[in-house]
Amino acid sequence: CGIVGYIGKNNAAEILVDGLRKLEYRGYDSAGIAVFEDEGIKVVKAKGRLSDLEEKMKLAGVPKGCCGIGHTRWATHGEPSDVNSHPHGNSRVTLVHNGIIENYLEIKERLISKGYVFESETDTEAVAKLLDYYYDGNPFEAVKKVIQSVKGSYAFGMMFSDYPDQIFAVRKDSPMIVGLGEEENFIASDVPAILKYTKDYYLIDENEIVILKKDGVKVLNLDQEPIEKERQTATWDI
Ligand code: GLU
Repeated sequence: CGIVGYIGKNNAAEILVDGLRKLEYRGYDSAGIAVFEDEGIKVVKAKGRLSDLEEKMKLAGVPKGCCGIGHTRWATHGEPSDVNSHPHGNSRVTLVHNGIIENYLEIKERLISKGYVFESETDTEAVAKLLDYYYDGNPFEAVKKVIQSVKGSYAFGMMFSDYPDQIFAVRKDSPMIVGLGEEENFIASDVPAILKYTKDYYLIDENEIVILKKDGVKVLNLDQEPIEKERQTATWDI
């Protein structure tokens, strides 16, 4: 399973699929991407291999845009299927997740009582809807409330329709790094996903909130204070 996110000047879809391919060694049963297009976020997802996703993209149209998140899923809650594949979300928020949310049933029941309708069997969809519930225009606050509410392991990549020039990420007990390029930046589960584009990266610690833009990366603690990250440089090639 893996996560890749890209924001920059190039076509995101290609870079996301390429990065996910570098993470195939981690295992997966389905894949999907979400990309900001001019008209809004376009999601394509499919059970199966990355080649199945590419096939579907050819039919549905390869999303055109320079900001997006991608995911390979190793199902833990809900069978491998198109609808259970990530990204999850709605017209306001989009989220990919690696890990397991232990209290998702409790969250799901609470959200159903508030009128939310679920379409998948995943633990992840409960988080996507919780993010929507908490979101009132301030992504940082919404992400903070989500991580204060969920129990379990996670690496999340998130996009908010109101912020087409930003990707948000946070992790706990699941891996995530930030790749630092020239006028482009990345998130990824592991370094090989970004090596074709840059060798420079940050390691992300638990519950540090990452805000990724084309021309810069902010890493904040839960009090919204900036954290000084040490730039790492990979010394190997792919
Ligand atoms: N628990 C989530 C699911 O089953 C994420 C699995 C993963 O890490 O890929 O959808």
